[in-house]
Amino acid sequence: MTNSPKKKSVQGKVPAATVYLVGAGPGDEGLITVKGQQVLSKAQVVVYDALCNPALLDHAPADAEHLYVGKRGGNHTLTQDQINDALVEHAKAGRTVVRLKGGDPYLFGRGGEEVSFLHKHGIPSQVIPGITAGIAVPMMAGIPVTHRKIASTVTFVTGHEDPTKDQTRIDYNALARLINMGGTACFYMGIGRLGSICDALAAGDDGLSLETPAAVVQWGTTPRQRSLRTTLGTAVEDLKASGISSPAIILVGQVAAIDEPGLDFFTSRPLFGQTILVTRTRQQASAFRQQLEALGANVLEAPTIDVVRPDDWTPTDNAIQALNDYDWLILTSVNGVNALVQRMAVLGLDSRHLSCVKIAAIGSAVDEALWDQLRIKPDMVPTQFVAESLAGELIAQNDLAGQRMLLLRADIARPALPKLLAEAGADITELVVYQTQKAQSLPDNVIEALEQGQVDWVTFTSSSTAQNMFDLLGSRQGLLKQTRLASIGPITSQTLQRLNLPIAIEASPSDIAGLTDALVNASALDTSATV
Ligand code: SAH
Repeated sequence: MTNSPKKKSVQGKVPAATVYLVGAGPGDEGLITVKGQQVLSKAQVVVYDALCNPALLDHAPADAEHLYVGKRGGNHTLTQDQINDALVEHAKAGRTVVRLKGGDPYLFGRGGEEVSFLHKHGIPSQVIPGITAGIAVPMMAGIPVTHRKIASTVTFVTGHEDPTKDQTRIDYNALARLINMGGTACFYMGIGRLGSICDALAAGDDGLSLETPAAVVQWGTTPRQRSLRTTLGTAVEDLKASGISSPAIILVGQVAAIDEPGLDFFTSRPLFGQTILVTRTRQQASAFRQQLEALGANVLEAPTIDVVRPDDWTPTDNAIQALNDYDWLILTSVNGVNALVQRMAVLGLDSRHLSCVKIAAIGSAVDEALWDQLRIKPDMVPTQFVAESLAGELIAQNDLAGQRMLLLRADIARPALPKLLAEAGADITELVVYQTQKAQSLPDNVIEALEQGQVDWVTFTSSSTAQNMFDLLGSRQGLLKQTRLASIGPITSQTLQRLNLPIAIEASPSDIAGLTDALVNASALDTSATV
């Protein structure tokens, strides 16, 4: 039987893959569509712009190629022709391409041109819409672009065309009339031409009054969002004073003056406007980061510790296999739980293997990790999340004489816990299940932000984060005195004090939730002091 010629790919060539133009949304990573994210998760090549949130790249498979084609401030990485060619080339090689574009692919995004070009070259494409900046950005600044009583139309306008030049295709007089009748004009890419846009809208007999409300919103939907309420007459001056620049949406019309309670839901979150530095390990930073971001904070990560696994797991594996011989298993960190879970998986053991031993956990994070990963509730969690409290309570509630205890810990753990337990008569086996080492250096953006006074809080979640941050800053240690330091608890505070660093807040309870609460309370005090 011969193959029908139709089924054969042309002369053994790979059939072209599809190019998906995907709207990345206005900035917030969560504002991509479900469909967009699904396509992204299968991409082999991601071609993305400057305004796409780079965090979205993490949704692509780990081995996907990333091609940055951003155009910002006239600094074109690739011309549009080169972008088009790159899309065709990858698709022809059979690679599924996601062309990720800020906001919506068609709205001032040249998406239409790209689709036509692809079609001309025989490449199939699909477009997945996105949430455009013109609607979402004002929303997060408390401005609905239409409003039943105030605005019945909204016009999206490009600020890329110069209103003083003949070739503009924008009828500013018509636009001014629409706004006057109760409409909103929403300008993209208009910051550089704000003056001429305002002049053009105010010109002529039907021109807008200089009192017409206007607003400018930069980096909308992100923790860096800044906004300005102004009028047509004062916009240029106010913009200059505010320091707001591109990327920004300019709104003109009565909605720009709206100020109703509730509409400020985005900016009224307790940590909005605060830049918070997280010094935990990269592996641990993300949960803390998510909590802070949900409360509106702008989070910078400066991992001061790298977690490294031990070279030899044999002693740990042996101890885990022989858990029956122990009375207690003591876990003092989430990394310890992670290591236990990983080794149990390698050894082919399930949670029932832990039924023979009592488990003590320092801190609610360890408690949660045990539940999340093993569905196990520890037999005891001390009231205070420090080693002394765990030892004290274990000793108070149990006769530890002769009790065999397995302690899975970090190489840098303080000796207090095993010492106290041993003094109470326990027979302690200590195993290092992960090692930590000081990070090589701090990220440049972190040093820059500290130097420019942009960091409101530096958070320390352990003594080693404090010591390492101090060491890594080297000659720039003084920068830590120009910001506010938040400590997770008394032990970390002692280290900070020893380093002669002032502590603004200390968490209680000494865990991430406690630290987050302390930051929220301190920020609330700041706000009430400035009102
Ligand atoms: N296709 C995009 C717009 C691309 S034009 C969309 O649908 O949103 C780029 C312009 O969009 C910027 O100059 C700015 O005016 C606006 N913009 C995009 N993201 C923004 C953001 N997060 N905050 C404010 N303006 C933004």
